[in-house]
Amino acid sequence: MYHVLLYYHFVAIDDPELLASEQREQCETLGLRGRILVAPTGINGTVSGPRESCDHYRQLMLADERFATMVFKVDEVPSHVFQRLSVRVKPELVTFRTATPLNPAHRTGTHLSPREFYEMLQRDDVVVVDGRTDYEYDLGHFRGALRPDIASFREFPAWIDEHLTTVRDRPILTYCTGGIRCELLTAYLLEQGYSDVYQLDGGIVSYGKDPDVKGALWDGTCYVFDERISVDINHTDDRRVVGRCFHCDAPTERYVNCANLDCHKQHLSCELCEERTDRSCSPSCMEAERRE
Ligand SMILES: [Zn+2]
Ligand SMILES: [Zn+2]
Repeated sequence: MYHVLLYYHFVAIDDPELLASEQREQCETLGLRGRILVAPTGINGTVSGPRESCDHYRQLMLADERFATMVFKVDEVPSHVFQRLSVRVKPELVTFRTATPLNPAHRTGTHLSPREFYEMLQRDDVVVVDGRTDYEYDLGHFRGALRPDIASFREFPAWIDEHLTTVRDRPILTYCTGGIRCELLTAYLLEQGYSDVYQLDGGIVSYGKDPDVKGALWDGTCYVFDERISVDINHTDDRRVVGRCFHCDAPTERYVNCANLDCHKQHLSCELCEERTDRSCSPSCMEAERRE
């Protein structure tokens, strides 16, 4: 049995390079793979490995007083969901182009438990904003959420200026995969003068595991940044498919990589179109020489 750990923590890191090299060594020793980012403002990671190794890693992290209150989201998987380990130092954990750096450790939107979020979702006066990018939204999202037409997180400030100023007096609810992007997004909204700002604590993945709400009001599946591509969230009977085949617009939840090795574009494709196009995103990719 393997586990996938997803985690982040905002805390001052005096020597990011040192922490990164310690992380690299620990993960290599334990046989963990995945992606870890270290910044002066904290750490963000997702790793996979044998269950015992993941347990050991969590104990090591929690023993470090900087990370003693860190929350790990844990998923069971049959094997590794990453090809290799990458530990990098970056100036920010999430690239978010703002004039002044945001520090969610000091100020961020109110955290809502899955139950609180579920109840607030159903109010008429709230504005629900998907805190991710357009292609993530297209595979699955909360019912009624706004779809930011952005391809990367750094485009959010401009999108907010354009789309949210008219609703600035209403409660704003945000959510993202594991919670880290909402920490920054809601910090930014508060800084911009929005006053009633909330975020889903632990993100979509925690919401799907909550035994009380069971992922209710989530439609489709949730995009994840590893080999699984997507995970199930809604475990109730009221569940809708929202994904559409890139080629024929039929409802589908199958995300595939274009077989042209120089493209590899992830796109939704129904089974028929995958066969018909030889798993290609375009006619030119279908004829490409370097194919899987
Ligand atoms: Zn199709
Ligand atoms: Zn392609």
